[in-house]
Amino acid sequence: MYNQKSYKLGATGSAIRELFEYGKRRKLEIGEDNVFDFSLGNPSVPSPDIVQKTLIDLIENVDATKLHGYTSASGDAFVKEAIAKYLNEKYQAKVDSNLIYMTCGAAASLTITLKALCNKDEEVIVFAPFFPEYKVFIENALGKVVVVGYQEETFLPDFDDFKNKINQKTKCVIINSPNNPSGVVYNQKTIEKLTDILKEKELEFNHQIYLVSDEPYRELVYGDIVVPFITKYYDDSIICYSFSKSLSLPGERIGYILVSSSCNDTKGVFASICGAGRSLGFVCAPALFQLMVPKCLGYTSDIKIYEENRNLLYQELTSYGYDVVKPDGAFYMFVKALGNDALKFSELAKKYELLLVPSDSFGCSGYVRISYCVSKKQVINSLPAFKKLINDYKEI
Ligand code: PLP
Repeated sequence: MYNQKSYKLGATGSAIRELFEYGKRRKLEIGEDNVFDFSLGNPSVPSPDIVQKTLIDLIENVDATKLHGYTSASGDAFVKEAIAKYLNEKYQAKVDSNLIYMTCGAAASLTITLKALCNKDEEVIVFAPFFPEYKVFIENALGKVVVVGYQEETFLPDFDDFKNKINQKTKCVIINSPNNPSGVVYNQKTIEKLTDILKEKELEFNHQIYLVSDEPYRELVYGDIVVPFITKYYDDSIICYSFSKSLSLPGERIGYILVSSSCNDTKGVFASICGAGRSLGFVCAPALFQLMVPKCLGYTSDIKIYEENRNLLYQELTSYGYDVVKPDGAFYMFVKALGNDALKFSELAKKYELLLVPSDSFGCSGYVRISYCVSKKQVINSLPAFKKLINDYKEI
């Protein structure tokens, strides 16, 4: 008999993917433009020109055996040096290129980091609402998921709950800012509060508690919002980065893990990351896309398009009477489910051809997530459906 845990994961799929598959079927039935699919975080804005130009240049001018060959397991040294230099200039951080490990995107960064850190039954804290795959990744690393609640209205961590849930078995804490699914960004004050608690608890329990910062949306912030660079606030920190969203490259699988140079026993932690990558069979991140990275650092897809979608949806939905958490970053918006039952509301919304992900799989109830990384045309065309949905609901 095959492994039952794996079977269950494969046979059930995620709520997000299920809704996406439903959308594909529905589009065949009634036409692409008649389904308002807000299910998936698949960037709709193309990569910046520099990505294509760099790839063409590499293909035309670099020896194919280098372009498509194995790199060192932790990544090409020149690429890692370029990343460190860029981050040190941008954030005045103390990034050491020898502590960067190139990966196949944030999912790989997380699975490798968790496998590197966790021993059986050690606890990993996540903050609700959270990316549902965390549970899968933590359990695969034999860790135990511990969920910390949030403050109503702001969706920032419930700090009392956080303090209470840290114990002798706590191995690490995952944060994700800008956040999927709420769009909330932790400002400097929030990061300081969170890391002060961690510092206190490291002393109390006399062992390292690692802060793992999942950052695929780092550059996707609007207005004057700033995302603090985590290694400047907490020594035992590890960044799990990805170019999937910033450069609209989710299908190419490229990102990195960065261990803070101030982390306790950097050599041990980094060796463990290399070992975890090895045991998970990653071998190395895609060579062509590693080589693309140095030229593309500092560039993003045109995020103004996401900002326009955010502004339009926020303005219109609130004017219709929806209760919306205003997102400062990523490309997700959290909306209170009419009737407070997210699953029921998501089903009801389907009748209006609106595909909204219920919040239950994100570890909190009563909301739906809108992924607004879609065309502006879809946002505009969906507005009458949102309006009709709430007006009909009020009449029930
Ligand atoms: N972490 C979060 C919070 C995400 O939203 C996603 C993807 O949507 C990932 C990790 C995985 O990203 P990647 O495609 O880089 O593996």
